[in-house]
Amino acid sequence: MSTATELIHSIPVDPLTGAISVPIYQTSTFVQEAPGVNKGYDYARTGNPTRATLEQLIAQLEKGTVGVAFSSGLAAIDAIVKLLKTGDEILAVDDIYGGAFRLFTQVYEKFGIKVTYVDCSDVNNLVDAITPDTKLIWLETPTNPTLKIADIEAIARLAKANQCLLCVDNTFASPVLQQPLSLGADMVIHSATKYLGGHSDLIAGLVVTKDADLGARIKYLQNACGAILAPFDSWLVIRGIETLHLRMKQHCSSALTVARYLEQHPAVDKVFYPGLPTHPNHEVARKQSSGFGGIISFTLKEDTEAAAVRLVTQTRLFKLAESLGGIKSRVSHPANMTHKSIPAEKRRAAGVQDSLIRLSIGLEDAEDLINDLEKTFLLISNQQQAAVSAAC
Ligand SMILES: *Cc1c(COP(=O)(O)O)cnc(C)c1O
Repeated sequence: MSTATELIHSIPVDPLTGAISVPIYQTSTFVQEAPGVNKGYDYARTGNPTRATLEQLIAQLEKGTVGVAFSSGLAAIDAIVKLLKTGDEILAVDDIYGGAFRLFTQVYEKFGIKVTYVDCSDVNNLVDAITPDTKLIWLETPTNPTLKIADIEAIARLAKANQCLLCVDNTFASPVLQQPLSLGADMVIHSATKYLGGHSDLIAGLVVTKDADLGARIKYLQNACGAILAPFDSWLVIRGIETLHLRMKQHCSSALTVARYLEQHPAVDKVFYPGLPTHPNHEVARKQSSGFGGIISFTLKEDTEAAAVRLVTQTRLFKLAESLGGIKSRVSHPANMTHKSIPAEKRRAAGVQDSLIRLSIGLEDAEDLINDLEKTFLLISNQQQAAVSAAC
């Protein structure tokens, strides 16, 4: 069976009524026949049938055993950090999602959890940085926003050899393009806010574990701490997943077209897209994923914040906004937006240059997106010429 067919038929028809859309169980509690005797649910923080359907679905898509749905991607990350204790260390990817960096440094460092950041596109950097106290390796691949690729299989071997857990933030790839658990990772997290939801209408997070015991620990933490996904939002994520396969195909194909256009543009310095043969980890990306995703970053020859701001404020189809993975294309300036909470030197060292611009390629026609960029580049060049003549 093809992945698309499997995906669509992983979404169950309601066994009770035959409803073809998953029912939304908008309830806080469940009536019991006798104390402790129930139909599998007692209180909706602990479990809700709509959420459970999403949790089984994502576990199946990621080839894991247990899925857990959280109120946000960050709540999912937070639950995983809570597996650790004081004195434990996290080895994390250097150009990590800004919110994860903030959570690690501003919230967890004060509880005595140390985090070391390394460029994970070379496994040797992890070999050098791992210590006996490293209990968790935190990967994003592709990374945000410089699209670096880490070799999941090689890093999983390193994690095993050092008795430490490997968690992959699979938000950028989605399970349609990449399944880290099959490559040896212990856990996967998603900001379902992005591609899984797909329509920019919700905030949600997911965890999937390969091992059932680890899954039970995450579920325990979720019930103890409370960051569950609501029934309606669970339903929205399920509905997003119904078209995930089709959307990812289009995101990937348009992104490659736009990346090739940017690569030859005279105002552009570097283009970061794992699908380009010039990408330093192109071969690893090909080996471990079936597509290269919808996110592209690039820098300008004029490497200043001002140049980037001129561009991101003048596109018409590309909407200036945080977040990614929706149907409408988006443009953002990470240095000023998603990565603002990372100190400038640290940010630049991780490759997030001042002029770095990130595109999330939506579902518009690729030619229209290229025309929008072309018009914007021309507009900027005309504005600069006018400014020069005015100064003369
Ligand atoms: C957005 C994002 C998150 C955080 O998810 P929220 O749903 O916004 O809490 C985590 N990781 C990556 C890669 C993201 O893009």
